[in-house]
Amino acid sequence: MRNDIERVLIDEAVIERRLDSMAVEIERDFPDGTLVVIILLKGALVFAADLLRRVPRPLEIECLNVSSYEGLESSGQVNFLDRHFPDVKDRHVLLLDDILDTGRTLHAVSERLYQEGAAVVHTGVLLAKDKHRAEEVEADYVGFEIGDEFVVGYGLDYKGRYRNLPYVGVLKLEAAN
Ligand code: 5GP
Ligand code: MG
Ligand code: MG
Repeated sequence: MRNDIERVLIDEAVIERRLDSMAVEIERDFPDGTLVVIILLKGALVFAADLLRRVPRPLEIECLNVSSYEGLESSGQVNFLDRHFPDVKDRHVLLLDDILDTGRTLHAVSERLYQEGAAVVHTGVLLAKDKHRAEEVEADYVGFEIGDEFVVGYGLDYKGRYRNLPYVGVLKLEAAN
């Protein structure tokens, strides 16, 4: 698998240290632990699992399946794939995604959460690309800012693969087929 990776962008130890400090920020901002955390599948699965186990509070966790990326590009459309939407009425929500790119996903899901009656929606991402966004949205918690390139690993996939890489890396062009 390592042979398919051009270069490691953020290694495991660096991610782990950053998650420690993000967990401290979340614990400090929400001392009572009454948050409902929404994990966007599948990309945020690994990030959320590692982050939330560091937050010593009785959190509620829900998952949502959305899709917008096709291969290496954003399709421009955010699709909700679940039949049921979690009950967020009057709740403080922490929405977690793997990466903030065009901003369409966080924007669309936040809007939907407000439509469903959420009191406040906070957002957290492992990665945020440093670029102009199609939607005006920023995350409240950002693990790392990265350049505008396609990355895989630590939950992020290329055509469904590489999510289990323990680090974030850039795929070799030859592997992207
Ligand atoms: P946005 O809606 O902000 O354009 O994109 C967010 C979604 O696109 C992320 O949840 C992720 O699934 C996908 N995405 C954006 N950039 C990348 C990337 O560099 N690598 C991978 N694997 N997925 C990405
Ligand atoms: Mg995603
Ligand atoms: Mg994907």
